[in-house]
Amino acid sequence: PLVLGIETSCDETGIGIVRGTHLLANEVASSMDEHVRYGGVIPEIAARAHLEAFTPTLRRALETADVELEEVDAIAVTAGPGLAGALMVGLSAAKGLALAAGKPLYGVNHLVAHVAVALADQHGNSSPLPENTAALLVSGGHTEILRVGSLADDVELIGSTIDDAAGEAYDKTARLLGLGYPGGPAIDAAARTGDPQAFRFPRGLTMPKFEGTAQNPGKHRHNWSFSGLKTAVARAAEQFTSQGFAVPTADLAASFQEAVVDVLTAKAVRACQEQGLTSMLLGGGVAANSRLRELLAQRCGAAGIQLTVPPVRLCTDNGAMVAALGAHLVSAGAPPSSLDIPADSSLPVDRIVV
Ligand code: ATP
Ligand code: MG
Ligand code: FE
Repeated sequence: PLVLGIETSCDETGIGIVRGTHLLANEVASSMDEHVRYGGVIPEIAARAHLEAFTPTLRRALETADVELEEVDAIAVTAGPGLAGALMVGLSAAKGLALAAGKPLYGVNHLVAHVAVALADQHGNSSPLPENTAALLVSGGHTEILRVGSLADDVELIGSTIDDAAGEAYDKTARLLGLGYPGGPAIDAAARTGDPQAFRFPRGLTMPKFEGTAQNPGKHRHNWSFSGLKTAVARAAEQFTSQGFAVPTADLAASFQEAVVDVLTAKAVRACQEQGLTSMLLGGGVAANSRLRELLAQRCGAAGIQLTVPPVRLCTDNGAMVAALGAHLVSAGAPPSSLDIPADSSLPVDRIVV
């Protein structure tokens, strides 16, 4: 099927076009620059930016793919989770297009779309979902380990963060280290020249009272916590400033990153082993992180788990991931959405289509 994908859940206006398992176009306009001076995304600004960027981005995508709107078989759009006002812009536009062109509409889950795009390779060709698959979803707002039986109708939450998301931890820690926004790429870069063993930062929820044993699992065995980590980094930085020393930013960034990536990969791999899952997909903006990709590949390799990671350019928000999930849904014969679906800012990950 030829599927148009529309993404407007946060600050990226994304339009992707997929034909079957092949990506034809992926155009992204970001309002990130307009949020930089606030240190985070301002919902009202994001929504207005989507309204302005939507049509030009759509035109570019259709041109790049060399297709006409009339040719598409279905329109997929992010229905949630995300910023309500931002979601409404994309969803309203998608409904208008679907109605005018007489195409089926799929209001889809943004998080499952992050996972679906992991199956794409560097050339934009997607492979089928392997059997017994888990997904490690690490983004700006979510950190979850999932069992993925089918991208059309079977996603189950195994564990998640109980406070900050991994991307949020990167963004907050980068801000306190003065590395700017967004923090993920900034810390990834700063960490390259730092020593990851310089500081031993906490690995949240790894104590026996939280984890229990495989036979008798504790409540937080498969969960993460990242809020204590930024406090630990802040305290370590203060030790230097209070004594008039320069803050060792690169060492702090590298040690912070090592703590995040260590506990993310250790718990994800163990969850797979304990649930009999032999394959893992990585998805979400933090999936672009170089150290996460490296350590996860190493640990999955050692555990005999087949790891599939998305191309770096498809990790952060884009329309290709929505189109990719849409194509899966059409191919699986999933029923389309009705044209009166709402935007759901807190859509749970196991609701794939609204
Ligand atoms: P969600 O998908 O949960 O709704 P979101 O869409 O805002 O949240 P994404 O676009 O998936 O988030 O990812 C953005 C996040 O990814 C930001 O927190 C950003 O700092 C982080 N990120 C991007 N690149 C990297 C990197 N190289 N290393 C670590 N984090 C990164
Ligand atoms: Mg973004
Ligand atoms: Fe996202």
